[in-house]
Amino acid sequence: MDHFELRDGVMHAEDIPLPRIAEEIGTPVYVYSRATLERHAQVFRDALKDVPRKHIAFAIKCNPNLGVLRVLARQGYGADVVSGGELERALAAGMAAEDIVFSGVGKTRAELAQGLDRGIGQFNIEHEPEGIALAEIAARKDMTAPAVLRVNPDVDAGTHAKISTGKAENKFGVGIDTAPEIFARLSGLPGLNLRGIAVHIGSQLTSLAPFEAAFKRVGQLVADLRAAGHSITHVDLGGGLGVPYRAGDNILPPSPADYGAMVARVTRDWDVTLMFEPGRVIAGNSGVLLTEILWVKPGATHPFVIVDAAMNDLARPALYDAWHDFAAVKPSGETMTASIVGPVCETGDTFARDRLIDKVESGDLAIFRSAGAYGATMASTYNSRSLVPEVLVDGDRYVVVADRIAAGTIMAAERVPDWID
Ligand SMILES: *Cc1c(COP(=O)(O)O)cnc(C)c1O
Repeated sequence: MDHFELRDGVMHAEDIPLPRIAEEIGTPVYVYSRATLERHAQVFRDALKDVPRKHIAFAIKCNPNLGVLRVLARQGYGADVVSGGELERALAAGMAAEDIVFSGVGKTRAELAQGLDRGIGQFNIEHEPEGIALAEIAARKDMTAPAVLRVNPDVDAGTHAKISTGKAENKFGVGIDTAPEIFARLSGLPGLNLRGIAVHIGSQLTSLAPFEAAFKRVGQLVADLRAAGHSITHVDLGGGLGVPYRAGDNILPPSPADYGAMVARVTRDWDVTLMFEPGRVIAGNSGVLLTEILWVKPGATHPFVIVDAAMNDLARPALYDAWHDFAAVKPSGETMTASIVGPVCETGDTFARDRLIDKVESGDLAIFRSAGAYGATMASTYNSRSLVPEVLVDGDRYVVVADRIAAGTIMAAERVPDWID
């Protein structure tokens, strides 16, 4: 459910007609709905009502905008961060340090020290040398780092290969078979309070079965570790729950309620604090990318609708062949079959191929739906395009929560060496 709807034939974000944002801010522009973000945050938390001790950390890589983070901080969400930059963002947005979890496969020593200095709540250790480094840095500071060991359960998440993270051949975590020995060696180190296990098998999962398979393996590991004398108080179950991208699609991802019921059932006897790192399920359907149709150009089979948004603004179709629903801001009721492309000089800059869409013409406005996660955060300035701005709507008001950064501003940070005459 979201708050991007037609009212009197015009697409609105909550109470704001999108043509107003296009006129005042220009296009392309991301538009987020505060009410939708809050709703998703509440639905996910409610879904975990049968989990007695829990901590929810929004995976901020999917939408690190400070305005968005503040909305979620107000909902009691912490942050899952994957870099020192994200760590500072979470703090700047008002998230408490102890509510921050530091994930990421390649944390630097400087980032580990930063996390300690900031007093974050948990480090998710990806392999033994990282655990040793963290222990050393913490001991030198006379600190003890709260940490869990991320395991790779070798489960196929059944999602796109580029966002699967829990197969043995993926770069994440330690093989679950080797986890007991690594855990035993790390847990003895001064400077480290190794207190549990983390797992995250991928993103945009559309079935509960891989989650359940992975969580059961983790449950067995927890039992084995306890039998070996370790104290296990925390298990981080990661993120990954999918969202619907395509209206009318018959494979719908599981609802948060079904996910929560499965988690409660599988973890009933674990007696730990459970941690969750949802990203897409909170933000995905909370944002759209608003774009203007530049040209409609004849093609070999169907016309090309050339929009002013491109792969540099929304990379998912080019990266993962992802589908984003496209809708006219003022639909006429007529349809057309077309390919939707951006201005970038790559054939990959294609949002849709030969798709039945609302009929549009040059000068019309349209949206790509479900662009609130892994959208603006992946934007670049490729082709010397501006960095796309972001707007947050709240009822009948909105604010630009990220400026458009002009190509000229980017160019101003470059220089030509004076030894090239
Ligand atoms: C990306 C990521 C998440 C969030 O994934 P979603 O699919 O957006 O829920 C959670 N945890 C870790 C470790 C991640 O890398």
